[in-house]
Amino acid sequence: MSCDFLELAVPGVRGMSPYQPGKPIEELAREQGLKVEDIVKLASNENPLGPPPSAVKAMAESLAELARYPDGSNYQLKQALAEKLKVAPEQLTLGNGSNDVLVLLAESFLDADSSAVFSQYAFVVYPLAVKAVGAESIVVPALDYGHDLDAMAEAIKANTRLVFLANPNNPTGTSFSKQALSGFLARVPDNVIVVLDEAYFEYGVGGDLPDGIDLLDHYPNLVVTRTFSKAYGLAGARVGYSISNPAIADVLNRLRQPFNLNLPAQFGAVAALKDDAYLQKSIEINQQGMAYFEQGFAGLGLNWIPSSGNFITVDLRRDAMPVDAMPVYEGLLSKGIIVRPVANYGLPEHLRISIGLPEENRRCLEALSQVLA
Ligand SMILES: *Cc1c(COP(=O)(O)O)cnc(C)c1O
Repeated sequence: MSCDFLELAVPGVRGMSPYQPGKPIEELAREQGLKVEDIVKLASNENPLGPPPSAVKAMAESLAELARYPDGSNYQLKQALAEKLKVAPEQLTLGNGSNDVLVLLAESFLDADSSAVFSQYAFVVYPLAVKAVGAESIVVPALDYGHDLDAMAEAIKANTRLVFLANPNNPTGTSFSKQALSGFLARVPDNVIVVLDEAYFEYGVGGDLPDGIDLLDHYPNLVVTRTFSKAYGLAGARVGYSISNPAIADVLNRLRQPFNLNLPAQFGAVAALKDDAYLQKSIEINQQGMAYFEQGFAGLGLNWIPSSGNFITVDLRRDAMPVDAMPVYEGLLSKGIIVRPVANYGLPEHLRISIGLPEENRRCLEALSQVLA
């Protein structure tokens, strides 16, 4: 008889459920007998342009060096980021995706005697990271699908060590202003670390999304996280980072795996960071696609949550009638369209759709209108 290994696991891990990613294209192709090239995946907020060619070239060239360990200090990438963001290299912590950095923060500052505050409809990685270390999750009810920052400030307890904010938020796309953020930070005790997840920051450049980096000098307890997975088109390379007080970066660096960024990823990220034309195009195609979906949803009599990200969460209720999003999701799958159900976020009547290329958006909207008919 083998023993019950789940019972052997530490309590935090026993209480976790695995992260559910968007359905992979290959999997749907197998299930529905469809061709990979006929499938449209708008489920994981990936960049529809494909990776920046400049990054692909740099990564390919790096392959000749694969027998060597990568630079564990990430010197080149830190230099490039420091220059671009006008911060010191000592303020940067690189991760295998920003997910890695979020987990490092939880593991560094939380334990079974502490708590973390985040919002209802927050990114599912926050509760997972908090649970894994056995800490308490304090979930604050959302306000209009977004963060209720006043209620979040009030929810902080004596044992709270971390607060997670996402601006824009995933899966709702909501955002808050610089004034709201500053007001919140002013109320947070200085021994509580505020993690401001700006995974979609680049999509808001030129708009009124705050830049968390501007507030770092004022608030030593602020940590800003960003990623190359979205606007920089490198989700598969796994590169993310945080910008913080160097003392916080020092803590994270003690726990960080020595080689958490692989060698091609380091090269790809440096190249992507210099590719302003690619970034600009990503932002433009996103704005066009967002406007297209908003217009299309309005035409179908559907509401949506206004989004500052590269995705839009549509409410499938028409005339306030209750609806289950799952059959609609499955109807779209049968037409080769993968979107993201968000029932696991407490939004069983919504679907989250990543903004794609114009033709992908058109196919998605057409399929949605057919499935709803
Ligand atoms: C996509 C996303 C991330 C980025 O994850 P990576 O690990 O960097 O790919 C982080 N936070 C939020 C809210 C996201 O939606």
